Amino acid sequence: MPELTPVITQDEIQRRISTVAQAISADHQGRELVLIGVLKGAFFFLADLARQLTVEKIKIDFLQASSYGADTSSSENIVLKKDIDIDIRGQEVIVVEDIVDTGLTLTYLIDHLQEFGPKCVKVCTLIDKKERRQAKVKVDYVCMTVEKGFLVGYGLDFAENYRNLPEIYHMQL
Ligand code: 5GP
Repeated sequence: MPELTPVITQDEIQRRISTVAQAISADHQGRELVLIGVLKGAFFFLADLARQLTVEKIKIDFLQASSYGADTSSSENIVLKKDIDIDIRGQEVIVVEDIVDTGLTLTYLIDHLQEFGPKCVKVCTLIDKKERRQAKVKVDYVCMTVEKGFLVGYGLDFAENYRNLPEIYHMQL
């Protein structure tokens, strides 16, 4: 069993989500919004965030990407595993991500979504992890920032395990 150290409690996660939900709601009052969750890690986050938004009309869809190959320093090694189904042309879109780490996945996904002609694509992440950032990516809404380390729980996995943990833990690899 790997060593798991609690980093953020359930209450703290919900408090931070409330703050971000208020900011998103204030920025989009009376308008329509499309939330696009990045599978699988963001599924709890998107579910909790969406239920706290007070924006007039919200649509929800999902994307899934995965990286392959030994060279993890390029977004060319990222493939799309699941695309969106709904039409986002002319829509205000927020990509809901679990963790922005190198930023390569997000760069790839934003470029992909731009091809559908949305009005704009913003980013909301549960965790902004600064240390390994390679791609310049603008993150509009951040629930929490960490410098480094591998996190699990609240949707975040290690080899598909631990997603169901209600809190976020640091995992000693
Ligand atoms: P990026 O392309 O920004 O390097 O990759 C982001 C993705 O890597 C996240 O969506 C997440 O799936 C995974 N990832 C990055 N850091 C962590 C971490 O600390 N824990 C877990 N479980 N996944 C991470």
